[in-house]
Amino acid sequence: MLDKMLTEARRITPWLREGSSVPQQQVIRDFGTSRTKSLKDITDRLPVRRRAGLPRWKRKRDAAPTLNYTRRGFRLKDGRLHLAGGIVVTVVWSRELPADPSSVRVYQDGLGHWYASFVVPAQVEPLPGTGLVLGVDWGVRETATTTSDAHDLPHAGHGRKAMAKLGRYQRMMARRSTAKDKAQSNGYRIAKRQAAKVHRKIARQRQDAARKWAKKVVRDHDAVAVEDFRPKFLARTSMARKAADAAIGATKAALIEMGRKHQRDIRLVHPAHTTMDCARCGARTKHALPLSERTYTCTACGGASPRDKNSAHVMLVRAGLNPAGVEGVRPPGPPVRKAA
Ligand SMILES: [Zn+2]
Repeated sequence: MLDKMLTEARRITPWLREGSSVPQQQVIRDFGTSRTKSLKDITDRLPVRRRAGLPRWKRKRDAAPTLNYTRRGFRLKDGRLHLAGGIVVTVVWSRELPADPSSVRVYQDGLGHWYASFVVPAQVEPLPGTGLVLGVDWGVRETATTTSDAHDLPHAGHGRKAMAKLGRYQRMMARRSTAKDKAQSNGYRIAKRQAAKVHRKIARQRQDAARKWAKKVVRDHDAVAVEDFRPKFLARTSMARKAADAAIGATKAALIEMGRKHQRDIRLVHPAHTTMDCARCGARTKHALPLSERTYTCTACGGASPRDKNSAHVMLVRAGLNPAGVEGVRPPGPPVRKAA
């Protein structure tokens, strides 16, 4: 029924007719699974941008176009991408495809550049065993503090200058912004473009650092216990905190992905009380340590260690990975979740 409506819509709507019908059908099928809307809504709101599974609808003039092609809708020939509707695209390959892609998403970013992103079955490359395990604690000063000094990851300083720049363009956008129903000024659009540029640069540097670190950690360890950090992105958190959270998010994602690829055991540990427990004897302090207190001193066993190092060791204990075993009792703690 929806397909018939599309045929009718293509007949009466010139801009819709100009596009290929295969991705339009795909969009409508995606749409049909989410909720039912009238034909007018569909023609008003193509193309769409999809987030987290369900399509979210934007007005046509606001949305950056995204088109999804499945098996029947595209083919690759001599390094060029042939799309349904007779469109042939020369692709600049960022890397070779490791296997036959099952679908492709063609989209435009905030800067107006086009990208094609292919879905390829996951590849596995097992690595030789090392007999070593690692505990990881996330933080602001050091993105990752670990039980091995050689694997600590300091917070990337290169982001700071760029973050300041980003803040400047964002303030510029706020200042130049007009009412919601009016077209934005040229000045606003220039600031927006600059902000998007800086943002993309920061994201790339962050991803690059995260992947390099994850590769090293996964190569050197059989199992990794890591804090299951969830960023909050509270409106009032500082720029530095937001940058740190984004770095942690990217690094954690890279570690999980690298662990899956190389068949390592990555265990996610619930973050509750990890700064309050003693890694040596398992005792829990009565009050949370203030952030200014950089040393963890245990009143039960008298042990003292740098705060973040203690937390990294607690991750190991919680995940059941401490190879030396710990004397005394272990705190029961919340259950450990295995990374997918
Ligand atoms: Zn202790």
